[in-house]
Amino acid sequence: MWIKSIKWYYLCALLPWLPLQAAAPADSLVILFTGNNSGQITDCGCGEDPAGGLLRLATAVDSLRRIYPSAILLDSGDWLTSYRNINQDRLVLHALQKISFDALAIGEYELPHSKPYLSPLFEELQLPLVLTDFPSVPHSHKQMILHRSGWNVRIVSFLEPALIQRRVNGPVAWHHESFIRAIQAAVRPAGQNPELLIAVFHQLNDLSPNILKLLPENSLIIRGHWHRQFDPETDGFRQVAGRYVVNPGDNGEFLGMAIFDLEKKHWSVYFIRLNRAVPEDPALAAWLKNRTSKLQE
Ligand SMILES: [Zn+2]
Repeated sequence: MWIKSIKWYYLCALLPWLPLQAAAPADSLVILFTGNNSGQITDCGCGEDPAGGLLRLATAVDSLRRIYPSAILLDSGDWLTSYRNINQDRLVLHALQKISFDALAIGEYELPHSKPYLSPLFEELQLPLVLTDFPSVPHSHKQMILHRSGWNVRIVSFLEPALIQRRVNGPVAWHHESFIRAIQAAVRPAGQNPELLIAVFHQLNDLSPNILKLLPENSLIIRGHWHRQFDPETDGFRQVAGRYVVNPGDNGEFLGMAIFDLEKKHWSVYFIRLNRAVPEDPALAAWLKNRTSKLQE
């Protein structure tokens, strides 16, 4: 572990955008999380200090994986544009595949009901899609179980019925009671190993304490569908009745890093702002340039 700590501090000296205090303890699980990127491949170029974009995310993730190769990378949904744009969505899907996400929760922007071109792309790219509660998204998993340090890390993802309704024409046999039943069914332990539950809730409002209490203690809850101003200090992390809720913010401006201390059973959370201090990943940028010029031909 000392070697890992030394590596971390060395990397922080080279890459000042990494949070120095985020060195993980010896027995720990590292979860990297993003959300609400809305199809941003580069930053918006707006304001004094624009941030975000998958090209910078690729650099940050690659740097962190050099120290924590078993880190789990997941997204809480709305990774595509909110509107139909097959070329942009195709580019984003390929970029997400190249960044090697471990799990991609589905937000309403990714529902193939309003973007039929997504289903063949999902099949072609075999992305690690997770949607636990809504029964009809092809090529998605109900849950994902990853094994890390003798633990099962179970990832489940719930999409609020009101958001599904926005994108699906016609009646949806999916309502609040179905949602609660799906949560209750999904949180039962799946095996003999100690288990850590990571639950994405893609929804309009904060979860009520009554729903949070359905989840095991020490669960990490990642909320999605946050499309408004975000301050990591006040909006990024809260603890409710032994459950930990994190929020990745809007427009892919931040990469979140949640570290679970397996000995103390405690989460620590940090946010890395993906501004100009984080260089774009040159390989992904070159691929994008090539791909974009082909699309324009
Ligand atoms: Zn959403």
